[in-house]
Amino acid sequence: MSTFKYKKNTLYCEKVNLQKLAEKNNSPFYVYSKQEIITNYKKLAKAFASVNPLICFSVKSNSNLSVLKTLKEQGSGFDIVSGGELFRTQKIKANPQTIVYAGVGKRDDEIEYALKSNILMFNCESINEIRKINFIAKELNKTAKIAVRINPDVDAQTHQYITTGKKTTKFGIAFFELEKKLKELKAMQNINFVGIHIHIGSQITQPSPYKEAITKTLKFISKLQDAGFPIEYFNIGGGYGIRYGKETITPIEKFGSTLVPLLKKSGLKIILEPGRFIVGNAGALITKVLYNKKNLGKNFMITEAGMHNLIRPSLYQAYHEIIPLHTKNKRTKKVDVVGPICESGDFFAKDRKIEAVQEGDYLAILSAGAYGFTMSSRYNSHPFISEIMIDKDQSYIIRKPEKYSDLIKNEVIL
Ligand code: PLP
Repeated sequence: MSTFKYKKNTLYCEKVNLQKLAEKNNSPFYVYSKQEIITNYKKLAKAFASVNPLICFSVKSNSNLSVLKTLKEQGSGFDIVSGGELFRTQKIKANPQTIVYAGVGKRDDEIEYALKSNILMFNCESINEIRKINFIAKELNKTAKIAVRINPDVDAQTHQYITTGKKTTKFGIAFFELEKKLKELKAMQNINFVGIHIHIGSQITQPSPYKEAITKTLKFISKLQDAGFPIEYFNIGGGYGIRYGKETITPIEKFGSTLVPLLKKSGLKIILEPGRFIVGNAGALITKVLYNKKNLGKNFMITEAGMHNLIRPSLYQAYHEIIPLHTKNKRTKKVDVVGPICESGDFFAKDRKIEAVQEGDYLAILSAGAYGFTMSSRYNSHPFISEIMIDKDQSYIIRKPEKYSDLIKNEVIL
């Protein structure tokens, strides 16, 4: 399924030899397969085709302009969570009427920017936020379309940091709480309450939590419609899981066949907000091994890349498969693969058996296309690294690596 495959002991992405690419470019860097991004988008669209959803790619998962443009060309809209993400979608000339704006902490200037940009709708997470949108919309003499993000209190059965639909998380409004505010909502002159949004978490590997959340939420939508709210949209969020290692993931077709009958019956316009599913497996982080270190019987493989480039293992104990760009032998060694950052939490793998590569060899850290570069930082004053898009037999630098001078370009010496 993946476009990262060995040919004669060398790893390729599509038709590009990654060993040669690494020798030509500064390591570390991210590499993405354009064809795999397109294939994943099409797979998801096909699985839900009979409800003809608006697919809003979740920009936070991978916000590179070339990735966004690739998806726009496939017909994708965008799920954004900040003014900065809105700015990115404008740079690729996305249709604002395909943009939905979520997030618990929208600032006044961001709300104003989104209203002036004529986005499709805000996904609102609290009554105070809706009051604020109403106020700003009034000042601008506009009406804001909104969906309310419901917290359906279901367990997405994923890592606690990426569970967002339990009542203990900061996201959304409980049915019961929203019910208490309906009168006030109806009276808001500059708010057009047209949708309900849920997003129960990320890396969800089976359809049952969605089924539970959708079933609960549809009942509530009926109540709202009976109360005179013209709810036309149901945004069921993102969260569709991918394979990072050997785990079993229910195929997306099964998510579709389980959920589509429920959604179709509702007669609502359906919005999906996938991120990881589209770009996760389509990307890898390529890094050189700097040192093989042995200390008190423990082996460390120290790479140029670190938690500043890919924080998922440190943050969520996430697993990423790590393989050499050139396999010389099949001899494996148990190692901790670690980065250069001065934190014990800076690791990509612990006590993992991987091929015993030499210093100077390259590794690919797979399935790093989502929440990879976008969560990276300049911690320890390492400049941001480059991103490269592969399209068939061609490679394109879609983000240049930063220089040391970029590190300080906005700083002032007093
Ligand atoms: N929608 C919302 C509101 C989110 O918060 C997220 C991710 O956190 C997504 C969509 C995308 O999730 P995923 O990348 O798991 O599909």
